[in-house]
Amino acid sequence: MVVSSRFQALIPNCSLQQWVFGSSFDALSDDPQFIDPDRPETHVLTRADYRLWSKRIALGLQKAGLKPGGRVLLFSGNTLFTPIVFMGVLMAGGIFTGANPSFVARELAYQLKDSGADFLIATDASIEVAVEAAGEAGLPRHRVYSFDATGLDAEPGNARLGTRHWTSLLAPKQEAAEFDWVEPADTRATTCCLNYSSGTTGVPKGVEITHYSYVANGVGVITVEQLDPEHAEKAKRARQLCFLPMYHVFGQTYFACNYPKLGMPVYIMSSFDFEKMLQHIERFRITSLTAVPPIVVALGKHPAVRNHDLSSVETIGSGAAPLGLEICDEVAKLWPPGTLTVRQGWGMTELTCTATNWHPKVFLRTSAVGEIAPNCSARIMKVDGSGEVTEANERGEIWVTGPTLFKGYWKKPQATADTVHVDADGTRWLKTGDVAYIEKYEPGGLWHIVDRIKELIKVKGNQVAPAELEAVLLDNSGVSDVAVVGVTINGEELPRAYVVPNPAAKQTEREIAKWIEERVTRYKWLKGGVKFIDAIPKNPSGKILRKKLRELAAKEVGDR
Ligand code: AMP
Repeated sequence: MVVSSRFQALIPNCSLQQWVFGSSFDALSDDPQFIDPDRPETHVLTRADYRLWSKRIALGLQKAGLKPGGRVLLFSGNTLFTPIVFMGVLMAGGIFTGANPSFVARELAYQLKDSGADFLIATDASIEVAVEAAGEAGLPRHRVYSFDATGLDAEPGNARLGTRHWTSLLAPKQEAAEFDWVEPADTRATTCCLNYSSGTTGVPKGVEITHYSYVANGVGVITVEQLDPEHAEKAKRARQLCFLPMYHVFGQTYFACNYPKLGMPVYIMSSFDFEKMLQHIERFRITSLTAVPPIVVALGKHPAVRNHDLSSVETIGSGAAPLGLEICDEVAKLWPPGTLTVRQGWGMTELTCTATNWHPKVFLRTSAVGEIAPNCSARIMKVDGSGEVTEANERGEIWVTGPTLFKGYWKKPQATADTVHVDADGTRWLKTGDVAYIEKYEPGGLWHIVDRIKELIKVKGNQVAPAELEAVLLDNSGVSDVAVVGVTINGEELPRAYVVPNPAAKQTEREIAKWIEERVTRYKWLKGGVKFIDAIPKNPSGKILRKKLRELAAKEVGDR
């Protein structure tokens, strides 16, 4: 049985930038849109600035040679200007792709090459890595720009490295004010972002999301938010704090798109710092938090929480990984009874972002992730390969269809075909790789996400692809064979490697862990351990039996 959303919302046939701003020339307010919480007096961009600066960079990119469909990779943490680069690329007709600023050169080079990026914008802190990666990917230095912490101090660029400063991409204000972006001929076909995800299997891939899907995602979130007039009224005085990275869809869709569309001011932190977050909440009277589970856990447990007045916060929304019900209870206890709602949603890069929502008037004590998002449908398939759907309350793989479904993996038709099931009537279903059940097979039924059958490991909300770590490990002469799986230790999912050692190399388990630490960014380190094993369990066709290894890992060290 298929469960469709109770809410069908009209999806305007326009670009994402048009949805957020109206046309290139509509009057926009001078209300603060993005504020640097460390410098709130001087570092503020209004809503009108957001569009104007995005137009400046759009024009600048076009002048520098960006063609329609060209890719621009942003290798940066959050700044006031991150949303501007994002929107600017779209206004120029390009495709945005964001990378984690902690990546090492090899990781960045992979994304540069895979996306075929034409431009790379890094930060002053990451420019050396960016140049090394650009060299590996064959991207000329004059296409590499740096972005400083304030984003504004015009500098000629890094003379030693031969790179340029991003401000050299900014067209003059007057010229930009007259710039009229070209609306895509077909918003359903025009990709605007490549968001990297390993999906259900293999290495990270560029998830092609169209303008239409971004707009559909935003329309879905806002439709549900505004179902209750009282809640919609409150939203008018909402103030948001952004600490989620905007290179990931979670941060990107809420803080660069949905909240600006709603006219909500966003305080953008340049990096996550728990105590600073508490100070900002108190100082700026932040009204809701969009977070990931480790932050909610810290709110429930960190002693510093009690030293701050956090009473302005009315809702905490969590996503990207499972959130325990006990933690929700612990956090809610810190607020006067009935004044705070803690909820989790569920989403996926391949579904643009948000796949489930909560009606603002439903206040349940539950571990559910809400109901299926507007305009979307879902069904749960038995995992025995029978092709049958489950009964209510029976676990299976959740499949989703709707306007937020990705177009495909960038230049990887086989991976797309393996992940998307097409029904006889042409309906495309995303096979999510998540195990779920629904309480009642009816519209408004609540979904629970209980497990994962895909390879993906999530470390503090970040994706770790076992296939990537396995490939790096196989380059080590001490490793004859390997499989990486996730293990949960103290409530946190961590990567753990099972290694068949090459006896001739005489390496220890610790040496192998260290080998990885020298080659990948920190959140991918094998903190779940390295364990020698005689043989990797595989099926007759050579596929790693990951479930078996996950069970072994849980038995050996885990608390799952
Ligand atoms: P990403 O594409 O990086 O957003 O990762 C999507 C994956 O994160 C999902 O397929 C789930 O495995 C996991 N995930 C997201 N939200 C939740 C949640 N609330 N509970 C459990 N897993 C989640």
